[in-house]
Amino acid sequence: SNKDIATPKRTKQILEKHGFSFKKSLGQNFLIDTNILKRIVDVAHLTASSAVIEIGPGIGALTEQLAKQVGAVVAFEIDQRLIPILQETLAPYPQVKIINQDVLKADVKAIIAQELSGADDIAVVANLPYYVTTPILMKLLEAQLPVRTIVVMIQKEVAERIAAGPNTKSYGSLSIAAQYYAEAETVFTVPKTVFVPQPNVDSAILRLTLRRHPPVEVANEALFFEIVRASFAQRRKTLLNNLSHHFAKKLTKGETEQLLLDIDIDPKRRGESLSMAEFARLTDKMDGMLS
Ligand code: SAM
Repeated sequence: SNKDIATPKRTKQILEKHGFSFKKSLGQNFLIDTNILKRIVDVAHLTASSAVIEIGPGIGALTEQLAKQVGAVVAFEIDQRLIPILQETLAPYPQVKIINQDVLKADVKAIIAQELSGADDIAVVANLPYYVTTPILMKLLEAQLPVRTIVVMIQKEVAERIAAGPNTKSYGSLSIAAQYYAEAETVFTVPKTVFVPQPNVDSAILRLTLRRHPPVEVANEALFFEIVRASFAQRRKTLLNNLSHHFAKKLTKGETEQLLLDIDIDPKRRGESLSMAEFARLTDKMDGMLS
């Protein structure tokens, strides 16, 4: 409606009233389009009994649309200057709790247990600060939170990398790291014009549906991620060259070549052509040889 926070007019009024100046270093690009916000909320498939964790509420544009749909919202905001503004803009929504913390330093699991213990459905929905998108997403995924879905607006290129499959330009260690924990899809793209100030990059909505179990089973998870990172270290090099360089202290090049041949993976292939299942096969074989 006209009174929504996320209209250009109301946003301008709020910012002027509080003499707020944007901090670029905190990734502050606020949404001023209610339709986009409603589409983001729709993508999360929330119900009245859902609870939502938001990261970076800003002046409350998305928080307000979430509060209209769900029973509880917990929002982490790092910028202390925004706290009194949020107290005012979100005064009509007692189901919102604002936590003035850097989400990267917060114990999100403990806060869920404390604030959302009764919730049977928990989602993360956020318009993320772009300078820390990847650390925030990896922290949320690795923490094994009791969360069904993560719906975030992020830089379009990063969304594409996270959702990419083998043999594409965007596929890399980030795709595998994220897809180990969740199914990933980019849902729609968003023009720069719906933000103040306008960012320099295009944005997209990424939906992560968390998995109960990883899609591949590996005995040594740390080695799996090490192999994945090593395989993409130099994208244009062969798998054999990347792996033998990384594991030079543990295996000779000949041994690395033989182990690839033993599991039917052509040593001349590039990392970007390997599926997650092939990386898992490689991990178990190498784990057996190294231990
Ligand atoms: N949700 C609002 C919207 O959509 O208009 C604002 C989104 S803005 C892209 C990102 C927000 O995240 C800002 O309010 C910023 O202060 C906050 N922020 C930046 N780094 C943060 C961090 N490490 N932890 C929590 N909030 C952070």
